[in-house]
Amino acid sequence: MKKLIIFIFFNLFFLDLHALELKGKFYQGNLIIGNTKPGSQVFIDKKKIKISSEGFFVFGLSKDRKNDITIKVVKDKNSKIFIKKIKKKIYKTQRIDKLPKKQVTPPKEFYERIKNDNKLIGEARSINSDLSFFNNKFQVPLKNSIITGVYGSQRILNGIPKSPHYGLDFAANEGTKIKAMLDGVVTLSEKNLYYTGGTIIFDHGHGISTLYMHLKDIYVKKGQNIKQGDIIGTVGKTGRSTGAHLDIRLNWFDVKLDPASVLDIN
Ligand SMILES: [Zn+2]
Repeated sequence: MKKLIIFIFFNLFFLDLHALELKGKFYQGNLIIGNTKPGSQVFIDKKKIKISSEGFFVFGLSKDRKNDITIKVVKDKNSKIFIKKIKKKIYKTQRIDKLPKKQVTPPKEFYERIKNDNKLIGEARSINSDLSFFNNKFQVPLKNSIITGVYGSQRILNGIPKSPHYGLDFAANEGTKIKAMLDGVVTLSEKNLYYTGGTIIFDHGHGISTLYMHLKDIYVKKGQNIKQGDIIGTVGKTGRSTGAHLDIRLNWFDVKLDPASVLDIN
């Protein structure tokens, strides 16, 4: 009898240890939020990731991910592995012609500048802070705007196939006010990057960042704390842009995710 009670007790305890809740759909490009017992260790594909004091963690699925993803939860030397299949997304092909030639293939004299821009963006995206804003609901950055470009589409610029588009484009008039999609800390605020023009990056915690590009005006500074809905800048056509629009990006470290997966627009 005593053994049986211990057995039941152990099982209940064991199950509780590995209670795992996952929010988000397992599609390519999507962001997934998990919740498990605080104090657990979480590994995604064998890589240990940060878990908040409330037991929340986050990760993303790359655009072309085909292999199943492995989530391992370890607590008090017990471990459990969860394996999830990834569903495919269908991506579009988008042609843009009549771009100035130097915007399609940058002239050599800009290589150094582009390299430096990429370094700044890469550094901002590599921040692994304890913030847990990623766990809140995102809000669209512009009201009543039309989506003119989606994540994953293959771009053919002046007939030359380029790397896929990883952003979500909103058409809007120059000067339209842009609202922060989520609480965050500004980790990059640059007026004039070669490709992205006026650019802001926010850290939302655990490697989740958002980027806003082609801005005309920027109202925030690096290090500033921003609340969801705050006006952070205005729509412009700076950098490589065919016209005034807002392009937003969502990342889990260097993994480029689909911003539409966190906004109610799909
Ligand atoms: Zn775009």
